[in-house]
Amino acid sequence: MINLKELEVWFVTGSQHLYGEETLNQVAQHSEQIASALNTSKEIPVKVVFKPTVKTTEEIYSICQDANIAKNCIGLITWMHTFSPGKMWINGLKILQKPMLHLHTQFNRDIPWETMDMDFMNLNQSAHGDREFGFIVSRMRIDRKVVVGHFEDEEAQREIGTWARATAGWHDWQGAKFARFGDNMRFVAVTEGDKVEAELKFGYSVNTYGIGDLVKVINATSAAAIDQLIEEYNDSYMMAESLLKGGAQFSSLKEAAKIEIGLRTFLQQGNFKGFTDTFEDLHGMAQLPGIAVQRLMAEGYGFAGEGDWKTAALVRAMKVMGSGLPGGNAFMEDYTYHFNKENPLVLGSHMLEVDPVLANRKPTCEIHPLGIGGKADPVRLVFNAGGGAALNASIVDMGNRFRLLVNTVEAVEIEHDLPKLPVARVLWKPLPDMKTGCAAWIYAGGAHHTCFSQNLTAEHLQDFAAIAGVECITIDADTKLNQLKNELKWNEAAYK
Ligand code: MN
Repeated sequence: MINLKELEVWFVTGSQHLYGEETLNQVAQHSEQIASALNTSKEIPVKVVFKPTVKTTEEIYSICQDANIAKNCIGLITWMHTFSPGKMWINGLKILQKPMLHLHTQFNRDIPWETMDMDFMNLNQSAHGDREFGFIVSRMRIDRKVVVGHFEDEEAQREIGTWARATAGWHDWQGAKFARFGDNMRFVAVTEGDKVEAELKFGYSVNTYGIGDLVKVINATSAAAIDQLIEEYNDSYMMAESLLKGGAQFSSLKEAAKIEIGLRTFLQQGNFKGFTDTFEDLHGMAQLPGIAVQRLMAEGYGFAGEGDWKTAALVRAMKVMGSGLPGGNAFMEDYTYHFNKENPLVLGSHMLEVDPVLANRKPTCEIHPLGIGGKADPVRLVFNAGGGAALNASIVDMGNRFRLLVNTVEAVEIEHDLPKLPVARVLWKPLPDMKTGCAAWIYAGGAHHTCFSQNLTAEHLQDFAAIAGVECITIDADTKLNQLKNELKWNEAAYK
């Protein structure tokens, strides 16, 4: 979907001329070594590019300017090996538009007790050089991630990698286009939102397209392309008998394939990164797009149902952030509860559109009637998702701001057959427990639509929210309801 190694973060070391040529040469050598170690770290999915030491106000301004316009530069990692006077950074930081991570590290890991002299101290002084830099960034109220630790330390590298993934998701949003077929579902509140504010805040645009324009593209699909896609279905899924060639509903499968090809063509032609539709506005389409949407999501398109463009965009960003990791990121809906006291659970699903990246085995391809929408029976992929650590994330529009909400969960293997439920499904336990997790989500106004992630952590989303400059509420193992309610109250003041 996206190769994160094509994206760059620049490693920028600050210093000054005070120290003389010899020290500055050493600074440059050490920085190059650190950048190279980060670049080859398996924890960091993007390229880390060494940049020459910046020593003056002009050099700092210039590197920030370059970073702003460099297409593949998604952010800066800064480090002060020596002492870089903070005022030198003001003009550069004022114009910097890319996210920043401040790596509070040191070239040497241990203090060389026997040999250490004043020259060594002068070279290895990030303990106070980084504090000077930290002050000016805080004084300028610029959000950034601070990572502390020796650069070879795996945990520090993992934290950098987490930020790099968040930054990649952010980079993908800038200028991204999302297509909206129809309005959001009638009377629904949480799927509404301020699209102008979203573009200002998040950098992506959402625009609407007439369903008739899409239908025109769908109807232009060639018979040969449909046959070819049906072959691919046959190779990829366990097909229901009625959907096989000569089967009673084979013509429905052809219709589904036609919709998929048309949708993909439309999205490719418009260079869209995601889309949303609504079952209330599908004039001219024979059936609701089920398998089409499922397969497009698996390809990397962001999607959410019922006109929910905020979740569609979030799904896309999280897919980019999780790129290359085992497991998937998928549009999800909290559907129904198992309120058994010993083993309370949430069943997540949707009426059709569950992303097969979650499937723990080869999905089955089935056709069943749908109670709503008033269309012909739609074809869909049916499967279960596996167990393990996961999370749900949701962006809501609070009127005066966007709120990103994250709930870490424990996904659970599904042991029951569910023979009468012909949709894909996921089972999980919210953290810290069912009662607290669900209450906290509802107090925070979290949507019933989410992006369910098997490979991102709360830290990825927290970094992402910090980059976007939006509120982030985390519900996890440490959540206490009373504390959370206070946090929500205090944030009303903080975001006023
Ligand atoms: Mn829904």
